[in-house]
Formats: sequence, structure tokens, C-alpha cells
Amino acid sequence: MSSNKITIPFNKPFIAGKEFYHIAQAVLSGQLSGNGLYTKLCQDWLKCKINCKKVLLTHSCTAALEMAAILCDIRADDEVIMPSFTFVSTANAFVLRGGVPIFIDIRDDNLNMDESLIEDAISPKTKAIVPVHYAGVGCDMERIMAIAEKHKLFVIEDTAQGLLSCYKDRHLGSIGHFGCLSFHETKNIISGEGGALLINDPEFIERAEIIWGKGTNRSQFFRGQVEKYTWVDIGSSFLPSELMGAFLYAQLEAADKIIAKRRYLFQRYMDRLRPLELKGLIRLPYIDHACESNGHIFYILVHNLEERDLLINQLRKSGILAVFHYVPLHSSPAGMKYGRACGGMSVTNDVSDRVLRLPLYYEMTDAEVESVVTALYGFYNK
Ligand SMILES: *Cc1c(COP(=O)(O)O)cnc(C)c1O
Repeated sequence: MSSNKITIPFNKPFIAGKEFYHIAQAVLSGQLSGNGLYTKLCQDWLKCKINCKKVLLTHSCTAALEMAAILCDIRADDEVIMPSFTFVSTANAFVLRGGVPIFIDIRDDNLNMDESLIEDAISPKTKAIVPVHYAGVGCDMERIMAIAEKHKLFVIEDTAQGLLSCYKDRHLGSIGHFGCLSFHETKNIISGEGGALLINDPEFIERAEIIWGKGTNRSQFFRGQVEKYTWVDIGSSFLPSELMGAFLYAQLEAADKIIAKRRYLFQRYMDRLRPLELKGLIRLPYIDHACESNGHIFYILVHNLEERDLLINQLRKSGILAVFHYVPLHSSPAGMKYGRACGGMSVTNDVSDRVLRLPLYYEMTDAEVESVVTALYGFYNK
């Protein structure tokens, strides 16, 4: 029997090289709790690069979304429009405040929220729109911002997958009122667990710092703006330790190199798999000319669930691990309990059966891409 050993994993966390060095510096500095040198270095790096008004590091993108929900003052029965085809945290952050996710369908070209369905989902209770930039490819932010402005709604960009991707020369996460980044080890730039809240409207900065610091005005105290710090608002422990910041800083220093490599691997898959698409055997990702992607996910769309199961098994026999996501939120147990669908969900239901993510990681070699491509050709030439 063949061993079925995985030789090409789906993901391989990349260590840029200076992580231990920076962690050692943090340890030697004597400040291990948050908001120290490394937290500030990371926040400044992100602020300059992405061009937003303020950045606060968090324990995760989930935590950044939770902060955004508090800052938008989401209360019981407030409605928040989002795609069903996303990770649970997109919805959970608002449900924790008593909000109701209103799920809409996605576009069948780039699998992002279908902006033409947003206005039908708006009610007097609507408070916010949450575009999720799937695979690091930007949603139609021009249209979404225009709708939000017309109806006076908040826009929170779920930019978990979109660090350093652009939409019309602006960075994803810098366009809505808030952007939420993830540094989970499955993302492009990592710190194990980690994230950041991007704030684009300066009006929210002061309150965001308070929520970040357990509901106290500690940040103002450290700046000498108040004489003692006290409990002034709701909040939580959203601020990560310096150890996370130190690790993350090493990654940010290598960010351009990491993104360039991922874009290269993405393009290589595109070029090599194009003939299969031209024969109608698979569908490749679509990226609108307004968008520049960070090469976060390379996916293909197959014909149906049965074909996907067979293909996953076939790849596994060649030692290749390919995975799929998401189970749609609108029909999940919690999605049905806490939210509801608006309109049909045919694209979401269809795509969640047909999408398959291929291995893509910084250290992937051309030969490894070729092995995956060869296995796909083997499957479809049968
Ligand atoms: C990964 C991901 C999240 C959650 O990120 P964490 O940092 O793990 O909390 C949220 N939304 C989307 C779209 C994601 O891909």
C-alpha cells in the first residue's frame, strides 16, 4: 500500500529570520506587556504602508472585528450586512453585541459580496456593511462606500486575507471606517495568532484606545494627558504582548519579499492551469483590473461536490494536501439562530461545494507547483 504521506502541505508558516532576535530584544528590554517599542514599531509600519489614521495591534482579526463592532455602537437588533461565504468571526463579532447578521449572496466571478444586493438588504435597522475581501482580492469598494454614504452606514472591511492588496491604488483596509487584519499563521504575514484594527476616521481614535486598554484611559495617562487612569468605558484586553509584536516586526520587515513570492506562485498556477480552464475543465480565479492581489489564496472551481471529493483524494494519493472552505453561514446552526439570509443564496451554496484551495506558501518551489499541476492534469486527462 502507498503511504499517502503528505509531501506538499497546504500551508507552511514562513519564518523570516529575525523573529528570535526581536523577541530577545523585547525580553532584554524588560517590558513584556503590550504597547511597548515593538507594538509601536508594528503599528507605525502598518500605518505608513497602508495609509490609515491609526493602527492598534490586537490578539486576532476576530478581536479587531469585535473592537469595530463596539466602536460602531452595535446594539440589540441592529442589522449588519455581510456575505454568507466567509469565516465565522465576521458574523460573531456583531452577534456578541446583540447585532443581527444579514447574509447576502456573493458574485460568481470573484466570490466577493455582491454589491448589487446590498440596497435590497437595507432596512431602518441597518447599521453597517462588512465587505470581506476574499482571497485578498478587493470588493467593489467604490460602490459599497457610495451606498454606505447614501444610507449613513458604517463600513468595516474584513481585511483578514487582504494585507498589502490594493483596490484602485488604495490599500484594502484603508477605505471603510475600519479595517481588520489577521496575522494568523495561515495568512501571508504571521505572528501565530494576531491581528490589527485599522482606523480611517480620526474621530474614533480616542475611544478605540480606551476600548483597547480594558476600558481605561491608560493611554492618555501615559501621554500625560490625565493625572490618573480610571475606568471610563466598556473595553477588554485587546492589546497583545510585546512578544507578539517582536515576532510580527520580523515578518513585516520581510513583507514585500513574502508578498512578491506569493504573487509569483499565484501567477505560475494561473499560467500553467490556463489550458484546463480553456477546455472547460476547471475555473480559475478572476481578478478585476481595479484590484491588485497579495496572492493569499489560489483556488480553482470544479464542477460539483463529487468531483471535488475525488480530486482531493487523488491529490492526497500524490502527497498533496488541498482544502476547501467555507460552510455557508446563513444555513449554519448559529447563522440560523442569530442571523438571516436576504435573497437567494445560489452562488454561495454552489461555490461552497465547488471551491478547492491549492497549496501556496512562501517556500514553495517551482517543482512543487509543477507537481500539483501535473497531478491536476493527471486527474482531468483520465
Ligand atoms: C482568518 C480570517 C478571520 C479570522 O482571523 P483571526 O486572526 O484568526 O481571528 C476573519 N475573517 C476572515 C475572512 C478570515 O479569513
